[in-house]
Amino acid sequence: MFKTGQLLTLSVHSLTDKGDGIATHDGRPVYVAGALPGDEVEARVTLAKPRYAQAEIRRVLTPAPGRRADFCPHTECGGCQLRVMDYATQRELKRELLLGALQEQGLTCPVGETLGMSEPFHYRNKAQYAVQPGPTIGFYAKHSHRLVEVDQCRVQAPVTAEITALVHQWMRDLAVPAFNEAHHSGCVRYVMVRDGVHSGELMVVLVVAEEPAAKALTALVEQLAQVPRMASIQLCLNDAAGNRILSEQVRTLWGKETISDRLGELDFDISALSFYQINPRQTETLYREAVRLAALSGSETVFDLYSGIGTISLFLAPHAAHVHGIEIVPEAVADAERNAARNDIDNVSFHCGAAEQLVPALYAQGTGADVVVVDPPRKGCDQVLLNTLAQMRPARLVYVSCNPKSLARDGAWLREHGFTLAEATPVDMFPHTMHVETVALFTLHK
Ligand code: SAH
Repeated sequence: MFKTGQLLTLSVHSLTDKGDGIATHDGRPVYVAGALPGDEVEARVTLAKPRYAQAEIRRVLTPAPGRRADFCPHTECGGCQLRVMDYATQRELKRELLLGALQEQGLTCPVGETLGMSEPFHYRNKAQYAVQPGPTIGFYAKHSHRLVEVDQCRVQAPVTAEITALVHQWMRDLAVPAFNEAHHSGCVRYVMVRDGVHSGELMVVLVVAEEPAAKALTALVEQLAQVPRMASIQLCLNDAAGNRILSEQVRTLWGKETISDRLGELDFDISALSFYQINPRQTETLYREAVRLAALSGSETVFDLYSGIGTISLFLAPHAAHVHGIEIVPEAVADAERNAARNDIDNVSFHCGAAEQLVPALYAQGTGADVVVVDPPRKGCDQVLLNTLAQMRPARLVYVSCNPKSLARDGAWLREHGFTLAEATPVDMFPHTMHVETVALFTLHK
């Protein structure tokens, strides 16, 4: 039996999905935050359960080969789970996680080295800070809803610190209350900052549970508008319980409704509610890989499913006869249409709705695709969509995935229906975290 406070000497052999080290003691797992496979540590049990325990590191006795010094002073922050793992080891780990997920489903294919960043810091173009009474503005601690104030974050754009400091001061000066989750009362819930890295344009979205006093809001807007590069200030009213950050109720307080950014040769407008890849340098790598695997000759009809603001569609369009983008969020579809016009690309059409509804409908009307790109959320593709793709039989299916497990599950189904997994490459979109992004190619021989 484990006991709280007990000291254990542990050899860490693997990692959980959340990035905690796993060791085995008396046949039972012990989860150790911040421990790496290969570490030998002395750890103190913080939670004792009959079947498992959680422990914290007291001392690293023998460091894992990939261990390095922590790069961040905010030790409690749960943001970067792999912060003590050197970057080459992180890339190798992500490739192994992908291989493991594929293997579990009996899938094998050549898997490329993880395409990583040369300078893996300050890579995020979007920060979502939570706000709690205090006021505290920061990120959640590991496995908790408690906030850690983070003034200098190594993965966010440095300007975000300036903006959260302004909001913090404003809340104090004008006694604007933070939202209190437990009582479901108060006002400010989140501060979201988007940085159009190439355009230089900044967007701030203040998420509130209730409308702040008009005077207070004016004072905040005046201050935020002074921040160099500010292009858009938005207010989002979200009084729903739960963890969703944004609601559909967004309005512009100052400046433009969207900000723009450039990827490769293309310019994009991005609204507050639209999905946009958070690591712009790596997005170009990801999309180049998707374009390479699509191997278009210019004559194909392409479906880009889960198309967001149309980025992948517009990257593919110059190489295809026509691209149909399908996306469920209306604001993103509106952005996509604007983006096509903005870049003078006219061989694309965007459709608003669920891929699992629109693809069967288009196919029933006689519109199929020679090449399909999918980029679904973590849960992977809907079964109805996969059924339709199996009937439609595209020659190539490029699968952009943010979750190796759902990629492998969908991949196993596709293999049962005649597709071959030809190759896969992880692209590191989220250095120092456990997130694994992959681009994979499935082929079908007619
Ligand atoms: N390919 C885009 C977006 C990928 S994120 C890019 O690279 O930026 C996944 C997108 O799928 C989001 O924009 C989300 O709104 C959308 N989405 C989620 N469920 C969907 C569904 N059932 N049908 C169509 N789009 C969906």
